[in-house]
Amino acid sequence: MAVASESIGGKQTAFNVGGRAYQFIDHTFDVVVVGAGGAGLRAVVGASEAGLSTACITKVFPTRSHTVAAQGGVAASLGNMGPDDWRWHMYDTVKGSDWLGDQDAIEYLVRNAPAAVYELEHWGVPFSRTEQGKIYQRPFGGMTTNFGEGIAQRTCAAADRTGHAMLHTMYGQALRHSAEFFVEFFAIDLIMENGTCRGVVALEMETGAIHRFRAHKTVLATGGYGRAYFSCTSAHTCTGDGNAMVLRAGLALQDMEFVQFHPTGIYGAGCLITEGARGEGGYLTNSEGERFMERYAPSAKDLASRDVVSRSMTMEIREGRGVGKAKDHIYLHLDHLDPAILAERLPGISESAKIFAGVDVTREPIPVLPTVHYNMGGIPTNYHGEVLAKIDGDPDRIVPGLMAVGEAACVSVHGANRLGSNSLIDLVVFGRAVGHRCAETIEKGGRIAELPKDAGLYSLERLDRVRHASGSTPTADLRLSMQKTMQSNCAVFRTGEVLEEGVKLIHDCWAAGDDLKTTDRSLIWNTDLTEALEYENLIIQAVVTMEGAANRKESRGAHAREDYPSRDDNEWMKHTLASINADARTVGIDYRPVHTYTMTSEIDYIKPKARVY
Ligand SMILES: Cc1cc2nc3c(=O)[nH]c(=O)nc-3n(C[C@H](O)[C@H](O)[C@H](O)COP(=O)(O)OP(=O)(O)OC[C@H]3O[C@@H](n4cnc5c(N)ncnc54)[C@H](O)[C@@H]3O)c2cc1C
Repeated sequence: MAVASESIGGKQTAFNVGGRAYQFIDHTFDVVVVGAGGAGLRAVVGASEAGLSTACITKVFPTRSHTVAAQGGVAASLGNMGPDDWRWHMYDTVKGSDWLGDQDAIEYLVRNAPAAVYELEHWGVPFSRTEQGKIYQRPFGGMTTNFGEGIAQRTCAAADRTGHAMLHTMYGQALRHSAEFFVEFFAIDLIMENGTCRGVVALEMETGAIHRFRAHKTVLATGGYGRAYFSCTSAHTCTGDGNAMVLRAGLALQDMEFVQFHPTGIYGAGCLITEGARGEGGYLTNSEGERFMERYAPSAKDLASRDVVSRSMTMEIREGRGVGKAKDHIYLHLDHLDPAILAERLPGISESAKIFAGVDVTREPIPVLPTVHYNMGGIPTNYHGEVLAKIDGDPDRIVPGLMAVGEAACVSVHGANRLGSNSLIDLVVFGRAVGHRCAETIEKGGRIAELPKDAGLYSLERLDRVRHASGSTPTADLRLSMQKTMQSNCAVFRTGEVLEEGVKLIHDCWAAGDDLKTTDRSLIWNTDLTEALEYENLIIQAVVTMEGAANRKESRGAHAREDYPSRDDNEWMKHTLASINADARTVGIDYRPVHTYTMTSEIDYIKPKARVY
C-alpha cells in the first residue's frame, strides 16, 4: 500500500512503499532519450540541435554502450569502390529481410544512408581511406550490385573498429549542444497516463536517488537483448530494458521470434569476428578441409547472408563434419591473407583471436560457432521513430509521447534477417529522423502538463519488491536457466516439438521469479538490485520470443523451422505483435500487416521472390 505524502509539482515528492520512505527528484525536459549508444546519441544531437531541452539517461557511460564493439562497418551506397545505387541497397535489404521488412521504411533508410555517412565523416569519424582519399568500403554478406548480379563494396569502415569511431565522435557532437547527461542512471519504467507516455522513472545508481523525468517525448534507445541467450556477442548490458518497459506498459513488441545468429563468434568465448573478415577474403572450412559454403550458396559462398551461413555451419556440425575434439565448431581461415592487410584492416579481430582463442591469425584458423548477435524484433515504430500500437483494429496508431530507435526498435527495416552493416546505418538514419520529428512536433519550451498524483508509483513498488525479495533463488540461477533454455530451445534450427517444450520451460523460469532472492538491501551502487531488474526485463522478452517462434509456422529469415521448411507468404507475410499479461503470466499474439508499398514513386514495391543463394 503506497501513500503520497506531498503534493506533486514540488521539486521532490515522497512516497511510502512497503513501509519504507522513497523520494522522487523531479525533472522536466522537452525530450528524454533513454540510451547513449549510436541511436540514442544521434537522437540527442538532433533534438538538442533543434533547441529542445534534452536529457540523455544511460546506465553505462555513453562510450561504453555496445555500439562501441561494432567492427565491420556501416552500409551506404556511396559508390567509392565501384558502381552503386540506393535502389540496389534497397533490393538487398528487402531480400535480406525475407520480405518481412516494411518497404517504405527501407526506402527511407537506404536513401538517407549516404548523407548520414557524410555527416559522420564531417563530424570527424576517422574512416579508412582509398588511395584517392575516399571513404574505404568493403564487401559484406548479401550486399550486391544490379539487383543481385554482382558483389557490392558498400560497407564503410574505420578498420575493424567502426562502432568505436562512430560512438566517440557522436558523443563529442552530443556535448557541443546543451543536452544534459544523466550517466549511470538505470531507467526502471515508463510513466503512462491514459495511453500516453509522460516520461520515465530512473534510479541513480551511485546514490540510490530516484528520479522522475517528464517530457513531451520519451525516446527509448536501449539496444538489444542478446543476454537472454547463453552465448552471444553482445555486452552484458544488452538486456533490452526499453523493450521490457514497453511490455510492462501493456504495449506489444514486434517480430521477437527473429533472432540473428552471427556465423563467427569465437568458439567458447562468444566474442565476435566481424563478417568483414570474410569480406576481406576469409573463408570457412569443415573437418575435411572443405570450403562447404560453395555447396550451400554457390554464388555468394562465404558471403551469403548470416542466416544462410549460420544454418550451413550448423548442418555441417550436425552431420559430423565439425572440427575440434568434440567436432562441434568450424574453422575460419585468414591465414592465406597478406599479414600487412590483416594488420591494416583487421587489427582488432586479430587481437581478439589471440586473446580469446590463442590463435595467431596469420598462421592458424580461428575456431568459430554461430552465436546470438542481433534482435530484429523490438518496439514497433514508423520511420519517424514514433511508437505504434494496434488500437481499434488500426495497426499503425501512434502512441503519444513515446518514440524508439536503434536495436530496441522494429521499424521494420531488417524484417526477418538483418544484413551486416545495416544496423549502424539504421542507428544514425533513424536517430536523425527522431531528432527531426521532435523538432517538428514539439513546441520549444511548451508547457508540459503536471504528472498524475501516483505517477511512478508502479516503478517504486517494483523496485521495492525486488530490493527486498526474500525467496531462495538468486538472480544468477534464474538467469542461467533462462539462458540455457533459450540457447537449446530457440536457436538456429527450430521444430514444433522443441519450441513447445521451450514454451513450457521458459514459463517455468518466469514463474520461478516468485522465489527471487536478493541480499543487498541498500540503495547505494546495488548491483544485486539492478541485475535482478535486468533479469526481470530479460525473462519477459525471452517468453515472447519463444512463444512467437512456436506460433510462426513457416521458415523465414532467421526463423528456420524443420517442420515448416518453406516460407509461406499467403499465411505469414505479417508482423507478429506479442504482448504480456504480467499478472496472469500469459502472452497475447496478434499481427500487423507488412507495408507492401514504398515511400515515394521513385521505386516500385519489390515483390516477393524465392530465395536463391
Ligand atoms: C560485437 C558486435 C559487433 C557489431 N558489429 C556491427 C557492424 O559492424 N555493423 C553494424 O551495422 N552493426 C553491428 N552490430 C550491431 C550494432 O552494433 C548494434 O545493433 C547497435 O550498435 C545497437 O545500438 P543502440 O544504440 O541501439 O544500442 P547500444 O549501443 O546497445 O546502446 C544502448 C544504450 O542504452 C542504455 N540503456 C539500456 N538500458 C538502460 C536502462 N535501463 N537505463 C538507462 N540506460 C539504459 C545503455 O546505457 C546504452 O547507452 C554489432 C553488434 C555487436 C554486438
